[in-house]
Amino acid sequence: MKNMKKINVTSSSMPPFEEYIEKIRPLWDSKWLTNCGSMHNLLEEKLQEYLGVKNVSLFSNGHLALYTALNSLNLTGEVITTPFTFISTTHAIVQNGLTPVFCDINPDDYTIDVNKIEKLITDKTSAIVAVHVYGNACDVEKIEEIAKKHNLKVIYDAAHAFGVKYKGRPITSYGDISMVSFHATKVFHTIEGGALIYNDDSLKSKIASLRNFGLAGQDQCDYIAMNAKMNEFQAAMGLCNLKHIDEEIEKRRRVVLRYQENLKGIKGIKYFQVQDNITPNYIYFPIVVNEEEYGETRDRLMERLADENIFSRKYFYPLTCDFKCYKDKGYRGDVEVARKIAERVLTLPLYASLTEEDVDRICKIIKKSEV
Ligand SMILES: *Cc1c(COP(=O)(O)O)cnc(C)c1O
Repeated sequence: MKNMKKINVTSSSMPPFEEYIEKIRPLWDSKWLTNCGSMHNLLEEKLQEYLGVKNVSLFSNGHLALYTALNSLNLTGEVITTPFTFISTTHAIVQNGLTPVFCDINPDDYTIDVNKIEKLITDKTSAIVAVHVYGNACDVEKIEEIAKKHNLKVIYDAAHAFGVKYKGRPITSYGDISMVSFHATKVFHTIEGGALIYNDDSLKSKIASLRNFGLAGQDQCDYIAMNAKMNEFQAAMGLCNLKHIDEEIEKRRRVVLRYQENLKGIKGIKYFQVQDNITPNYIYFPIVVNEEEYGETRDRLMERLADENIFSRKYFYPLTCDFKCYKDKGYRGDVEVARKIAERVLTLPLYASLTEEDVDRICKIIKKSEV
């Protein structure tokens, strides 16, 4: 093969080694490694400031944060959600004893189709769990209107939406609670980690208790809950990464622009434009392959890239409702658009240190020109 440099779909951002070492050095004196240590508390504060939001509660990972968000709002019965997401979203609903009802997505930005939500609402519906998929913002205004009208809670899986703004306002300030993921593969990371973001101050102590076994002091336990605390090594990584986050996002932006220039006008290859009024974070670069126009399936393109040591990902495929653990459960849902997209979508490599030459090499293969 002509060019064997391996390109993975993602590569974690790392702070300079010395910065991390300096940051964790004090832990050898304090020996305070978890349970709301000083780095944990500082990271919560810094994130509130950076994101411009009222309350941030840190977690050991995004999934437990989302699980806890649903647990904290006393939901019952059915929850309207999207199957075009990472499996975590659906698991968090089902693990809370709730029934997911799958709503289709809109064909422009792949977020939940707000015109199809209302007909799924019954007297059992207690919430909407929507996803800002690929950092694309849901129609938060319409969702708010529907939720008010039917007295529903709104939880956003904003795992992809760190730092995204809508009309200058943080996207995570919409809804009752938003969850962001700080997994190693996300734009901002704490190795593993995540957070809940919410406006209602009265949730703060409940959420703190729910991430620590439901305890409230040494001899009081009010809730049946998880252990989901972020430790000091994770928080230290977060503090280091936060210093560099703006540069990281700028580098990602350049990669995305390079892809867009390269892929413009290729028949059968569609990519997103940034939505109106949105400040994006450039977390993913998904393309949708239309076999009839492109002359090749998504899977074939993925194979051809892999032959050149370039690893893309079918993200998201299959729909969560089509995984073995859910497909025979009889959950309601009409998800034709989502299924069609899932069968055609391919997420291309994107990370801050990907070079323009790397992008050009990937795009040459997509353009089927000589490499
Ligand atoms: C990453 C991700 C999660 C889970 O976050 P973790 O921090 O990995 O637990 C949930 N939902 C979506 C859409 C994700 O991409």
